Amino acid sequence: MKYKTLKGLQDILPPEIRAWQHIEATARDIFRAYGYQEIRLPILESTDIFIRSIGETSDIVEKEMYTFQDKGGRSVTLRPEGTASFVRAYVEHHLHNNPAPQKFYYMGPMFRYERPQAYRYRQFYQIGAEAMGIEDPRLDAEIISMLARILHGIGLEGLNFELTSIGCKGCRPAYREALRDFLGDRLSSFCSDCQRRYELNPLRILDCKVPECITARKGSPPVLHYLCAECKTHFDSLKHNLDLLKVPHTVNPNLVRGLDYYTKTAFEVTSESLGSQKAVAAGGRYDGLVDEFGGPPTPGIGFAMGMERIIPLLKSSDTASGPELFICPLNQEAAEKAFLIAEELRTRGLWVESNYESASLKSQMRKANRISAENVVVFGGDELKNKQVVIKNMIDKSEVSVNLVVDEFIKILRKIGSR
Ligand code: ATP
Ligand code: MG
Repeated sequence: MKYKTLKGLQDILPPEIRAWQHIEATARDIFRAYGYQEIRLPILESTDIFIRSIGETSDIVEKEMYTFQDKGGRSVTLRPEGTASFVRAYVEHHLHNNPAPQKFYYMGPMFRYERPQAYRYRQFYQIGAEAMGIEDPRLDAEIISMLARILHGIGLEGLNFELTSIGCKGCRPAYREALRDFLGDRLSSFCSDCQRRYELNPLRILDCKVPECITARKGSPPVLHYLCAECKTHFDSLKHNLDLLKVPHTVNPNLVRGLDYYTKTAFEVTSESLGSQKAVAAGGRYDGLVDEFGGPPTPGIGFAMGMERIIPLLKSSDTASGPELFICPLNQEAAEKAFLIAEELRTRGLWVESNYESASLKSQMRKANRISAENVVVFGGDELKNKQVVIKNMIDKSEVSVNLVVDEFIKILRKIGSR
């Protein structure tokens, strides 16, 4: 074959789309109840936006961005995640002037030049949410609870909600020094990237995926021991509020996020069924980011979930089904009648297919089966003459005789559909 999708990209074909739409519809319903409104942002942004927010020493910026020059010589990047673009828009459109909390959600593709493997793609889709303007840990608990409701509403079970606090501008310097002291003694055991990170941003060493680095950093000081009073109170209150909302969670002091902008709350939702790519969703607080983008100091918190990791966790009961009715015409006159009735039934909201020309009953029944039609009706000479047809249910094989009248078709098909 001559042309193929690029490595790490995939076509999503109709049989799978039903599951995608189920996830999106469930998320939209729950976002609405929590007051989150949709925002659609460009896929392409100025490269600085990502460097500035995600951080120069992060894996995303160092290795994973699709960055190129446009025809005007500007450096542009396909968005690797949603929060940076969102905060750019939040500041650009002065959304902070609206009453807090301002709450938004987005759905769409992200791009990272990673090594493709199971559940890890170069173009992948996220559904994300951002809530702005409130520092109260109840908002943290609420957004995590909303995420739990979305994931359960979609039908996922057995997920772990892991959380930690990674401190703020106030307590991070002391932690960074403690980490540097610890890592300094064993620096030669780390990869060259980490040796460079040691000088620039030692926290990033905790996120390195190289096996030698994972071993060498064992026993490093836990960030939770270095939280200032404010961060500690915030974290304790978050856990308390999650208990109140009955969201099961565990504290994972080793949780690190790959992006520099996080402060205080960080969390991840994992599933053991996914193997090594087990993060289904992740997020955290970013109280300094709006400020960094030139807006007024504004706290924020958000999450993003990965569609390609949710889909394989769904049960197969949500697989594709076919039209509500397939009409098999047995002669030319019947084909014309089928053509008309199909159109009328469609205007009434039913999914109807038919053959454009008459063909043998056997071949038409084979086609009805292949497209998983729920019901079949035959239009032949006798049926047209008597204006009487038999609607056959392909699932339970029951048959109902009705007059050849659209309203009667609707009555029967709706009854079958609601079973
Ligand atoms: P990981 O540790 O798996 O690389 P991450 O920390 O880079 O994840 P985030 O930036 O937090 O991921 O993105 C949020 C979610 O987006 C992840 O939990 C995951 O479900 C999904 N995701 C991230 N990168 C990819 C990818 N390359 N392919 C598919 N899904 C992804
Ligand atoms: Mg990653």
